[in-house]
Amino acid sequence: MTAVEPKSDQATITVRNPADGRIVGTVPIDGPEAVAAKARELRLFQPEWEAIGPRGRKVWLMRWQDWMLDNADHITEVLMSETGKSRGDASFEGVAIADSINYWAANAEAFLADRHPKAHSPLFKVKKLTTVYRPHPLVGVITPWNFPFAMPGIDVVPALAAGAAVLLKPSEVTPLSAVEFVRGWTEIGAPPVLGLTTGYGATGAALIEQADMIQFTGSTATGKKVAVACAERLIPFSLELGGKDPAIVLADADLDRAANGIAWGGMFNSGQVCVSVERVFVEAPVYDEFVAKLTDRVRSVQQGQEGSGFKYDTGAMATAAQRDIVERHVQEATAAGARVLAGGKPTGVGTFFQPTVLADVDPSMTCMTEETFGPTIPVVKVADEEEAIRLANDSQYGLSATVWTGDTGRGEQVARRLEVGAVNINDALANIFCPSVPMGGWKQSGMGYRAGGPNGLIKYCRQQAITAPRVPTQKSELMWYSSSTRGRRVALAAMRAFGGHGVRRFGIRPNKG
Ligand code: NAD
Repeated sequence: MTAVEPKSDQATITVRNPADGRIVGTVPIDGPEAVAAKARELRLFQPEWEAIGPRGRKVWLMRWQDWMLDNADHITEVLMSETGKSRGDASFEGVAIADSINYWAANAEAFLADRHPKAHSPLFKVKKLTTVYRPHPLVGVITPWNFPFAMPGIDVVPALAAGAAVLLKPSEVTPLSAVEFVRGWTEIGAPPVLGLTTGYGATGAALIEQADMIQFTGSTATGKKVAVACAERLIPFSLELGGKDPAIVLADADLDRAANGIAWGGMFNSGQVCVSVERVFVEAPVYDEFVAKLTDRVRSVQQGQEGSGFKYDTGAMATAAQRDIVERHVQEATAAGARVLAGGKPTGVGTFFQPTVLADVDPSMTCMTEETFGPTIPVVKVADEEEAIRLANDSQYGLSATVWTGDTGRGEQVARRLEVGAVNINDALANIFCPSVPMGGWKQSGMGYRAGGPNGLIKYCRQQAITAPRVPTQKSELMWYSSSTRGRRVALAAMRAFGGHGVRRFGIRPNKG
């Protein structure tokens, strides 16, 4: 992997592999002045980046995609080195972002095209109405440690496609993948509109002082601080925060698929996914059978990191602190009567925690109320669908959910009653890298949405309305705000009159164009 050169006159962050404690790199800690200097530099180049338009930007995004695919193995190595991930979990990240580049690069021109809305009243039929999307000049993207390449990518790519310059602040825990991410942009010779600033929370706070818009992904607690800081500067922000995603297993479900899907949804990335399955509600008639199948599946999960192949399903936890949270949740659950059917302990090596299934869980236990963010799947028996929906909604979080059923129509009905931003039926995590649908948390899980077709780019833009006459302006033409008494009367009458007919009656010829 690439070691990052420390700057001699600055303090640095030392990055370790949590699987074995090895030092794998260092990055500088940027203070407010360094952040401000980077922001100034990016602003210099942004107007040109905006001016080349979506087609011009597409060329650079596609070259960057080539770089990511050409360097996929190296990116995977860096990811593994700073997170403790298995090769399988790590290799997913670069591919997911390369895929998202296809979508934004191909669609930016259509998504950002001027809109010409129809006039709502006869008075405006004489106007050409245009909505223009112009990027925020400098977007600050602040990211967490769970997907150190994919989390920057999922937001930086659409922000660049929209024409913004971007200053990225990755997590202090895992900054090295972001170094690679930005290095790729520089190596292809792209315009210098993507920058990197590294450091702790203070560096993120300094970035908020410089940016015109903030896209934040991280914990709910930090998200609230970010919201307050953005409000102080009156800059827009979008927050993607924590979750406690429920899975509802209905009695008519294919239990093999449900057990496989929930095991994947709970164990992928060692459960360190905002949309991990963190609570499972199973209808009573199939509870025992489902729990047996889930336990078999989770016991078969291979955990580890060493070697060059794809032997291991999942790896270590990214930090010892996160592993300790997982251990506390399991201990508190068992102390209150839950049964451990698989795993249940740290392995004693690095930050690994065994893939764990907890049965006979009560919804009041901490493993059901707080975000665990680890490889544990707590299962609750419920009487019926109604109880499952009620308990699933009984959470401060509302990120996403899964429903497992033999009847997709029924699944969709259940989905529409869940207080979450996304629901996957008979699948887990399916929506997160599908940019044509929105991803955003309800309740304490976020504010705003990423992706979702055109909105995924428009969120990085300021919207501008332009009105212009459609016909050469005449003396007789009404000003819509006409301040004279006669003018107001005429305007009111025109509004009452119907459509183009009314406009003609008052002597204004609507333009055919
Ligand atoms: P965190 O909130 O501790 O840190 C996130 C980022 O914010 C880091 O880069 C950190 O340096 C920065 N930061 C800290 N204080 C700041 C401040 N005052 N101002 C500006 N920036 C500041 O989160 P984490 O522990 O790195 O990540 C885990 C959390 O992220 C979990 O809660 C998880 O659910 C959430 N997450 C959410 C999504 C989503 O899309 N909803 C995706 C991934 C992770």
